[in-house]
Amino acid sequence: MDPFSKTTELKSSDQPPLDASDNRGITELQRKSELLQKIIKQERVLHQALLDSLGEGLIVIDRDGIITTVNPSCCAILGYDSEELIGRWFTKAIKSVTPAGVPIDPLQRMVIQALSLGKAISGNSFYIRSDGDMIPVSINVAPVIINDKPVGAIEIFRDITQELALDKAKDEFVSLTSHQLRTPATAVKAILSMMLGGDFGDLNDRQQHYLQKALETNDRQLHIIEDLLNTARVDAGQLSLSIESLDLATLAHDAVQEHLASLRERNLNITLEKPVESTVVKADPEKLRMVIDNLLSNASKYTPDGGRISVHISSKHADAVLSIRDTGIGIAQEDMDKLFRKFSRIDNELSGKVDGNGLGLYLVKHIIDLHEGSVEVSSRPGYGSTFTFILPLADDTIRQRLLDR
Ligand code: ADP
Repeated sequence: MDPFSKTTELKSSDQPPLDASDNRGITELQRKSELLQKIIKQERVLHQALLDSLGEGLIVIDRDGIITTVNPSCCAILGYDSEELIGRWFTKAIKSVTPAGVPIDPLQRMVIQALSLGKAISGNSFYIRSDGDMIPVSINVAPVIINDKPVGAIEIFRDITQELALDKAKDEFVSLTSHQLRTPATAVKAILSMMLGGDFGDLNDRQQHYLQKALETNDRQLHIIEDLLNTARVDAGQLSLSIESLDLATLAHDAVQEHLASLRERNLNITLEKPVESTVVKADPEKLRMVIDNLLSNASKYTPDGGRISVHISSKHADAVLSIRDTGIGIAQEDMDKLFRKFSRIDNELSGKVDGNGLGLYLVKHIIDLHEGSVEVSSRPGYGSTFTFILPLADDTIRQRLLDR
C-alpha cells in the first residue's frame, strides 16, 4: 500500500506530551529571537544616527530611479522636506544644470549613469534648490549591486559654494601678486642687462660673472611670475590667443637652439628631426613657444646628466605632431593622471633637486586645448618619457601661400 495515499489526521491529543527539555529548547529559541530583534533595532538606530549626522547630503534610489531615502543634510542643502523627495523620480525631484543654467539630460545624470553602468561615478554639477538658486555640488554615486545586478544607487553630495569662493579668492590673489611682482622684477632685469652691456662702466671678470648669475636668477624669477600670471588667466578664462600661421618645425628649431647651451652644460644630447613636408599650423607663436620650452625644460630637468632628448616633428593626416622624447627617470602609471593638474609635482628622485612649481604641464595642456589640439604622454619608469602634442594643420591655401614665399 502506498503510504502517501492515506492522510492521517493528527490530533493534539495524539502528539506526545512536551517534556521539560522541549520547553528549554523553545525558551532558548525565544531568547535568541529577542536578542536578534534587539540587535536589528540597535542597528537601525545606529544606521539612522549615521545618516542624520552625516554632513553630506545622502540620497538612496531604487533600480527605477525612485528616491527611497534622504538624510537631513540632503534636505537642508536642497531646501526640501524629506516627504517632498521620497517616492519621486530622482531626476525630476532634484534638478541638475550646467554652469550656464541649462538642464542636464536625465540620461546624462551621474546617478543614472552609475545605475546603468554599474560603476561608481563622481564629479561636480549644479543642483537647483527649492527656492530656485543654483548651488555647486560635488557628487559621488555608487551603485548598489546584488547578485551582479545594480538594484539601486547611493549618492553622496556636498555643497561646494565656499570651496569655489575660496578658490576664486586664491586665483585673484595669485593674479594680483604676480602682477605686482612682475614690474620690479622686470626693472631689475633691465638694470642688470644694462650693467652687463657696459652702460655703467667697464666690469672686471668677477663682477661680470656675478652679474650674469644675478641675471639668470632674475630670469627664473620672471619665468615663475609669468607661469603664475598665465595660470591666473587660464583660471579666469582670459588666456587669449593671437593666432597666425607658423611653421611648427621652425618654432621647435628656435626653441632647441636656445636650450642648447644649458643642455650641453649637463652633457645632454639633443636631436631635432624635421619632416620634408610642411607643418604650418595656425597658432599663437608666443604661447606655442611656451609649450615647447616647458616640454624641453621638463625633458632636461627629469633626465640625468649624459642622457638623450629627441624632438620629432611630423604631419599625420590633417595634423602636425611634435614629440619630445627623453631617456629620463620616467613617470609611474599611477602618477599619469596627476601630471596636468595645477601645482601638481610628482615626488621622484629628481623633484627635490630641480626647480619647479607644478604649473608647466597645466599650462601646456590648456594652451594646446585652446588651439583645439591634444596632448599625449607615454612613459616607462627608468627608461624615459615622450610628450606629444597634436595640432590641426593650417588650411591648404594658407599653407601653400607660405610655401610659395
Ligand atoms: P614642474 O614645475 O614640477 O616641472 P610640471 O607641471 O612641468 O611641473 O610637471 C609636473 C610633474 O610631472 C613634475 O613635477 C615631474 O614630476 C613630472 N614630469 C614632467 N615632465 C616629465 C618628464 N619629461 N619626465 C619625468 N617626469 C616628468
